[in-house]
Amino acid sequence: MAKLILAAATLLASASAFTPIALPSTPVTNHGSSTSLGVTADETSSKRKRALKTLARTAGVLSSVAFTTAGFPPAALAAKKAAEVVEVVKTVDNTQKLLAAGAGVIAAGAAVIKLTTGEKAQDFLEASPYWDQSNVPVNVYKNKAPFTGKVVSTKRIVGPKATGETCHIIIDHKGDFPYWEGQSWGVIPPGTREKDGKPHSVRLYSIASSRYGDDMSGKTGSLCVRRATYWCPELKADDPAKKGICSNFLCDTKPGDEVMMTGPAGKVMLMPEEDPKTDYIMVATGTGIAPFRGFVRRLFFENTPAAKAYKGQAWLFLGVANGDALLYDDEFQEAKTKFPDNFRLDYALSREQENKKGGKMYIQDKVEEYADEIFAKLEGGAHIYFCGLKGMMPGIQGMLEEVCKAKGLEYETFIKGLKEKKQWHVEVY
Ligand code: FAD
Repeated sequence: MAKLILAAATLLASASAFTPIALPSTPVTNHGSSTSLGVTADETSSKRKRALKTLARTAGVLSSVAFTTAGFPPAALAAKKAAEVVEVVKTVDNTQKLLAAGAGVIAAGAAVIKLTTGEKAQDFLEASPYWDQSNVPVNVYKNKAPFTGKVVSTKRIVGPKATGETCHIIIDHKGDFPYWEGQSWGVIPPGTREKDGKPHSVRLYSIASSRYGDDMSGKTGSLCVRRATYWCPELKADDPAKKGICSNFLCDTKPGDEVMMTGPAGKVMLMPEEDPKTDYIMVATGTGIAPFRGFVRRLFFENTPAAKAYKGQAWLFLGVANGDALLYDDEFQEAKTKFPDNFRLDYALSREQENKKGGKMYIQDKVEEYADEIFAKLEGGAHIYFCGLKGMMPGIQGMLEEVCKAKGLEYETFIKGLKEKKQWHVEVY
């Protein structure tokens, strides 16, 4: 695939190095297909023209080098020129069209630059080697000296019939607050507590993007926040005096609002990336999906060494009330379509589906349907993750206990074994 694209790009470059190639609106990935990179398509035309002009100039130099020398120019020169082109693309305007034009030009200059589908490799936030977790940042910003982030956007991401409101909030950290997939940020809501006038305490939120952020700049992070409301049984309505402080603050933010943040927190939900054949079983309820969205983006939608290497199977279970309450379904469907062998997706919709006993379909019922496969995967070294409301765990544990019993396994010993081998990851709240 990459070869094909390179060949096509070379042809294009020789005919007209400057013709922008219209890429699909969905983003591009390394497995030979692509994903949403959060690249904006609504850039001003003057910006585009400026960028194309610059590209054209640089490309002209490159093309002439490429076609006036016998064979390829020296790799170093080609690489340098290619880097210039990428730089132009990066600094002027990150539209997909420009990136594609850049790829064409680079291909004309030399085939030494590793580009897959027109994207620049993303490795500027990687450890060396990429799976080395010895320097994962933890609690860099503390309560006493928090970081001030700026809201880029806040969007409701559930349908009208969802139970409650969940928002996707993108926060700009200017590249000064790096984190790894599976970590959380703390948020200190503004204002003081009614009871004692002291500042509000910090609340933790799992980060819902990969380390590169939704725009792949490495300068943003996203949160998936459910607005906590309090239903008053006497009033038979929400009591605004008792609504959750921090979640309401976050869900009400507007672009440009400042957010006081701490962290990044936690290492229990990190992915062990050293063996790229590792299977991941991810079990979420509601906003517990947040870390797994980050995982899926890292495994399938980026141009990183981690995504390139991944050969295992990631299996996501999400439990919500109904179809309107599903989170990031479009991205997961895309992953499923593009990587049918590497990504599996199962939903438990408690108010729309029935379990095998005719009751509501809760997350443990959905997981139980695949108990044999899941146990086989765990025995083969798969890592299992749980994230969401605390209330999900008793049901999950009860189900696992039953399955163990049916298989003649001792439940406590089985779980202890998973924990000892670091295959068991739980973050519930
Ligand atoms: P608070 O103000 O702390 O109130 C808590 C609850 O009490 C609310 O439901 C509120 O309505 C209710 N309440 C308030 N006053 C009264 C009263 N007088 N009587 C009765 N009830 C009352 N949440 C997410 O949405 N997304 C995440 O990704 C996420 N990740 C997390 C990760 C971790 C590791 C942890 C520990 C928690 C995570 N949480 C997440 C939960 C989050 O930290 C907050 O606990 C949550 O948003 C509620 O905080 P709040 O300030 O809005 O509510």
